[in-house]
Amino acid sequence: MNPVLVVVEHDRGVMVAASGEALTAARELAGTTGASLEALTIGADADGLAADLAGFGVRVVHQAHDPALTDYGPEAWGAVVAHAVAELAPSAVLATGTDRGHEVLAHAAAHLDLPMIANCTAVTPGEPMTVTRVRWGGSLLEEAALTAPVALLTTALHGFDGEPAGEPGTATTRELLPDLDPALARSVVRERVERTAGITLATAPVVVGGGRGVGSAEAFAPLEELASLLGGVVGCSRVVTNNGWRQHRDQVGQTGTRIAPTVYLACGISGAIQHWVGAMTAKNIIAVNLDPDANMVAKAGYAVIGDLHEVIPAISAEIRRRKGT
Ligand SMILES: Cc1cc2nc3c(=O)[nH]c(=O)nc-3n(C[C@H](O)[C@H](O)[C@H](O)COP(=O)(O)OP(=O)(O)OC[C@H]3O[C@@H](n4cnc5c(N)ncnc54)[C@H](O)[C@@H]3O)c2cc1C
Repeated sequence: MNPVLVVVEHDRGVMVAASGEALTAARELAGTTGASLEALTIGADADGLAADLAGFGVRVVHQAHDPALTDYGPEAWGAVVAHAVAELAPSAVLATGTDRGHEVLAHAAAHLDLPMIANCTAVTPGEPMTVTRVRWGGSLLEEAALTAPVALLTTALHGFDGEPAGEPGTATTRELLPDLDPALARSVVRERVERTAGITLATAPVVVGGGRGVGSAEAFAPLEELASLLGGVVGCSRVVTNNGWRQHRDQVGQTGTRIAPTVYLACGISGAIQHWVGAMTAKNIIAVNLDPDANMVAKAGYAVIGDLHEVIPAISAEIRRRKGT
């Protein structure tokens, strides 16, 4: 039985949480088919992951080494995966449902001239293999059939449990030498800038979001003040980033950040589906909008129908009054 292979995503030797999810999906698939669960680590800085991978049920770790693998690079990593498929003949290759997992497997699929299915939440072996995958930014689940000599799949983020198997074992390691063309290292991470302080949009307990209704870059100042009073951060819609009012790192949505705060205060945002998929896991949503029929108002737990330029300063003033500041 051909093995099931997991491409382990790591950053300079630190395994990312999504790798655990891909490993769980692969372990279930291997368990159903009786295949061996094997893992591929890319770059010498990931060699130390073998013991952790054994805890996920991996029995063989293929450690790819090459001078071109100095740090993460999608072209080089994709070529390594393609080399591993040619050498190891797995029945399926699973990778993380992250930007990196998707791009690495897409590169590999292009090398191998194979189809690839992204964002799977369920995988059932067979002829054809059937999968459930997340589409349209999470608003649609699709059942798909895959006919291919090797199944290339990424697992949807949070689609599988990411915990170890609970049966500690050992994994044997073997070196994989892909002999990469040095030109493949054309885009490689060269530098990292550490966030020195503050909370991120993805982890903030409170997000004060602004949309087209805010009106300008300068008009975000009251939203900044309210976010600061609430210990949160400012987010925005794509119209705002398209207009150059704020940077893309503040954008909430399908092509921005998925947020999950305790409170999302959505001001002057209509609630288009592409925005909603990034905000829908907020525990409480409060909409501030002139339009009582706006989608965001319909979806919010609470809504203030009014002009955000009056409502937001009024909320801040009340908080300051209660704090005595
Ligand atoms: C492929 C694709 C990906 C996309 N990805 C994203 C994404 O990641 N994130 C995202 O946000 N969008 C995304 N979009 C864009 C999305 O479709 C919407 O166009 C966008 O979210 C609308 O932004 P908005 O709500 O700020 O603007 P609008 O839809 O114009 O809504 C403005 C709202 O402000 C209200 N308003 C106006 N003035 C005031 C006021 N003074 N006080 C209170 N309320 C007021 C209006 O009633 C209205 O409801 C994407 C689109 C596509 C095609």
